[in-house]
Parts: sequence; structure tokens; C-alpha cells
Amino acid sequence: MTPDIRPLVAGNWKMNGTRENLDQIKAIADGVTEDMAARIDALICPPVTLLYVATALAEDGALQIGAQDCHSEKSGAFTGDVSAEMISDCQASHVLVGHSERRTLHGESDADVQAKAVAARRAGLVRIICIGETEAERKSGATLDVLGRQLAGSVPDDATASDTVIAYEPVWAIGTGLTPTITDVAEAHAFIRAEMEQRFAGEGAKMRLLYGGSVKPSNATELLGVTHVDGALIGGASLKADDFLAICNACVSLQG
Ligand code: PEP
Repeated sequence: MTPDIRPLVAGNWKMNGTRENLDQIKAIADGVTEDMAARIDALICPPVTLLYVATALAEDGALQIGAQDCHSEKSGAFTGDVSAEMISDCQASHVLVGHSERRTLHGESDADVQAKAVAARRAGLVRIICIGETEAERKSGATLDVLGRQLAGSVPDDATASDTVIAYEPVWAIGTGLTPTITDVAEAHAFIRAEMEQRFAGEGAKMRLLYGGSVKPSNATELLGVTHVDGALIGGASLKADDFLAICNACVSLQG
């Protein structure tokens, strides 16, 4: 954690969930109590089919709702795509951009990710910009070079601490049950913090840096306790309200 930075615990449901899973969003919304919300932000990013109904379910509480991706254009002939403005119209507050599954499976470049991040801000959404190295890049010692290149190419020049969150997600740790060592997480986050401070000065110092990749209730306290880890981005464990809330509670406990 970083003193004076309000943590964010974010869940990414990926392409999981139909209406019958809305009970989990309701349970999470109920579990994000006023006490919890006094210390941390909690966010769930369901598939876009559930976005509007999820924001309605969460509207009386503190749980925030976001989307998993957006198009860079406002509207037009882009069959199957969803614009940041449409996400905002669903009353959502955040959007993930540059998730490794988008970069790998949809061939998104850093420039594509940056264009989406610009669109998110245009629509009034907080953008969570995801970066992370592959297993081969880590093994060849290129991790920090890759992170530096992704940050330089994906994060827009006007980023501030209130409109931008960086999620460090080693690709090889996503959905695998594997996690980097605490030393490796600390090294990556210290590097990201330094890069953001160099580029954005005080805004970079306050920007939230999330760790993502196989976070679960049993390892959350250790991972969230690392310096410059200001929250988590959680895939699998965010699908179950009990697990997601346990991670939120671990984060609250670290806040003291
Ligand atoms: C993710 O999808 O961003 C992610 C971190 O997944 P998981 O927690 O399942 O590894």
C-alpha cells in the first residue's frame, strides 16, 4: 500500500455471467458497507450485457460498476463494439483498457490502448490501463523494459491520479494460480511508480497501481501489503461474492 492513496479492489468478470449471476453482484453490493467504503473503493466489471442492470442494482450503495473494454470512437460503423460514451450512459464509472487478453487475442497495440484510454476520459470514465510481461519476457530479463514501453505507449500525456489507474498484471499469472514473488511484485511496482512520477510528477505519485494475477483470499494480504500496491485487479475470485468481499476485507484490514 502507499500511504494516503485510497485503495481500489476491482473485479473483472471477463466473458462470464448471465442474469442468474446477478445475485452475486447484489451480494457484493450489500457487502460493500459504509465502513468498507470509508476506506477503499470496490468495483466490479461484469460483461457488457449485464452492465446497465448491474449499475441499477448497485445504485443505492458504494459498489462501483465498470466495463472491460471500449472502442476509441464515439459511435459509427463498428459492428459489435461498444463506445466509452455508451458505457457512461449505462451509469458505469470505470473501464479496463489494454487487458492482456485484449492485447493478445485481439492484437491491440499500445497505440490502440492509448486511444481507448483517451476515449474513456472523454466519456468521463476512469480508465484502468493494464500492462504486464509474458512468461518469455520475464525469463529473458526483459520485464522492466516491457513495462516501460507499455507505460510510455499506453498512458496518455494528460493522465492524472483521479482519471487513471495502472494495473500491473504479469500475463503468466493471469488465471494460472501462479503469482510472482513478493520481491518481484515490489520491484515492478516501484518501477511503475518511478516512471509515473517522472512523467506526471505529483499526479504520478498519487496514481493508484493495482496488482493483478491469481489474487485470491489466501494471498491477498501478502500481495496488498507490498509497497506501491494500491489495490488489486481480480479475475476468477471476483465471480464469487464471498471471495471478492474477503479480498476487500483484507484490503480494509491493511488500512488499519
Ligand atoms: C484478470 O483477469 O485480470 C485476472 C487477474 O485474472 P485472475 O485473477 O483470474 O488471474
